Amino acid sequence: FTLVDPLTGPGKGVHFSDVAGLREAKQEVKEFVDYLKRPEFYKSLGAKVPKGALLLGPPGCGKTLLAKAVATEAAVPFLSMNGSEFIEMIGGLGAARVRDLFKEARKRAPCIIYIDEIDAVGRKRSGQMGGSEGASGESEQTLNQLLVEMDGMASKESIIMLASTNRADILDKALLRPGRFDRHILIDFPDLIERKQIFEQHLKGIALEHQPDHYSKRLAHLTPGFSGADIANVCNESALHAARLKQSKVTGQNLEYAVERLVGGTEKRNHAMS
Ligand code: ATP
Repeated sequence: FTLVDPLTGPGKGVHFSDVAGLREAKQEVKEFVDYLKRPEFYKSLGAKVPKGALLLGPPGCGKTLLAKAVATEAAVPFLSMNGSEFIEMIGGLGAARVRDLFKEARKRAPCIIYIDEIDAVGRKRSGQMGGSEGASGESEQTLNQLLVEMDGMASKESIIMLASTNRADILDKALLRPGRFDRHILIDFPDLIERKQIFEQHLKGIALEHQPDHYSKRLAHLTPGFSGADIANVCNESALHAARLKQSKVTGQNLEYAVERLVGGTEKRNHAMS
């Protein structure tokens, strides 16, 4: 797994201000930040804080970004792993990895555990699904270990578990029970206003002819169905296009060229997902 310590790690970390839009999702995760910062306050009130939340939504819309921002804002370590890394393991190694991850988290608490693409490890076990679609023996063991570790997490440990998926429908029901991932936070494609904000965020780092807000409204209108990752890509492509043409500044034309290039790709992808 990857461990990032926002206090000592590389860069300055991702802050909430780096996550454009997603107002409601940010509001929901801010409670976790507060809990990680002052667990005693919650305990003194007798409040049981949720162990974590499932971030649901299509790829590239800010799930990882938001999870990292929680860690940075709370100034706690961020331990992340991709669900598929567990299932590549054979001979009980997947379960051992889960144990290691939680062991490390206990050592580092307060901290955040983030499992990206949890559906890879959290598929319904065979009892809940017929045929070959259910989890195999190996990944069942891994999932069982994950459930054991989550249940064993004492509330005094101040470990928040966040996980992401775009396939909540295939998750094992046991993962969604109270006390496990019972909170769901939707991170969907950005709407018009959010796309404008994401453009402004990513255009900040580009050498533009005019200020970002000169372009952002039109770009937002041109990009329905784009994810935040697509928008970041447009901004970068526009700068590469300007470089190819040996310009010293990025223009509106470079930006629209980059949008055009990406429109075909996103249309194909969104069609495949629907
Ligand atoms: P995946 O499911 O593929 O892991 P994700 O939802 O976790 O996707 P992120 O990794 O958070 O997506 O986003 C990818 C990149 O897209 C970010 O690093 C960032 O550059 C950009 N991005 C996505 N959403 C936003 C946003 N709301 N604000 C600013 N940038 C964004």
